[in-house]
Amino acid sequence: MRAAAIRPLRMPAPFLASFIRPEIEQLSGYVPGEQPRGGGTIKLNTNENPYGPSPRVLGAIREATTEALRLYPDPVSTALRAAASERYGVAPDCILAGNGSDELLSVILRACVGPGDRVAYPFPTYSLYSTLVAMQGAHAVEVPFESDYGLPIDALAGAKQRVTFICNPNAPSGTLAPLAAIEDLAKRVDGLIVVDEAYIDFASRSESAIALVSKNPRVVVLRTFSKSFSLCGMRVGLGFGHPEVIAELAKVKDSYNVAKLGQVAATAALEDYAWMEANAGRVRTSRGALIVALEKRGFRVLPSETNFVLARVPDGSAGPLQRALKERHVLVRYFDVPILRDALRITVGRPDENDALLAALDAINPAGT
Ligand SMILES: *Cc1c(COP(=O)(O)O)cnc(C)c1O
Repeated sequence: MRAAAIRPLRMPAPFLASFIRPEIEQLSGYVPGEQPRGGGTIKLNTNENPYGPSPRVLGAIREATTEALRLYPDPVSTALRAAASERYGVAPDCILAGNGSDELLSVILRACVGPGDRVAYPFPTYSLYSTLVAMQGAHAVEVPFESDYGLPIDALAGAKQRVTFICNPNAPSGTLAPLAAIEDLAKRVDGLIVVDEAYIDFASRSESAIALVSKNPRVVVLRTFSKSFSLCGMRVGLGFGHPEVIAELAKVKDSYNVAKLGQVAATAALEDYAWMEANAGRVRTSRGALIVALEKRGFRVLPSETNFVLARVPDGSAGPLQRALKERHVLVRYFDVPILRDALRITVGRPDENDALLAALDAINPAGT
């Protein structure tokens, strides 16, 4: 039996304003990359790892899939934090686990900023920052990167902010700022400095700000299991910071913020670190080949220390090219903002996926440029 057609519901316009906060009503909301249902798509639009998680992770999830799921998970992810403590050489009370690092970004803003407060970050960067700042009714100070995506340290240092976000390596540029620059900034800036290291495992050199946590209580570093550990679907992230900062942040997280299977998966992922490193190495190799192939076709590609590349399209018409690729079932990311309008962000896939992208580009534009 077919259900009756569901009529759309309507409400009088001023009604929402009687309970929804104005900053939320005005918000357009973060727009994630498309997640197509079913197969047949070359998915190079959301920076997922093209390789699967460790078999030991899958085994641990299976093992934990028992009747015990009727119980709440450990609210403070004790085993995961112990494993992270060992891996990263930071005490467990310096570590906060989150439902993805996206949750930790919200937690930080919830704890640190209210209406009218200032949050600064170089621009362009991860677009979720501006959405989260707007949700708090706070003011985003977007400071343009210097040429070649150098950190605009002087401008950030004078921005009178409570929180500074540094995405390092940066998305969507793929570029990596040296640790010395971040250390310098952390000494000069007001408030908390949050270094979002979602992609750092793909970098060719280690510039992790985790080393700064013990030196400067202003520094909080975020990591995620989504990208390098191939666990986007599990939603687990880690925050590293001074114990007193971590304790304040922990007050505003959801009580049971990381699901039991997420805790188990992330713990097992840290215990099979070599699996992650091998896959990151494969991505780095493919990244080099992809950049060469794109440059041969007239794209200008920034040096990438991530699992994606930002490629400036030869004739500048990135939007039409993104749509033409989509017609050929190849998804890449296009950002409709002035500074990125001539570029596509392309996730590094498996070699066969990258080849399919290149074949689609050649089919769309047989001349080569
Ligand atoms: C993917 C990504 C995240 C989010 O990670 P989750 O742990 O999946 O929430 C955070 N920051 C940046 C820059 C990202 O690209």
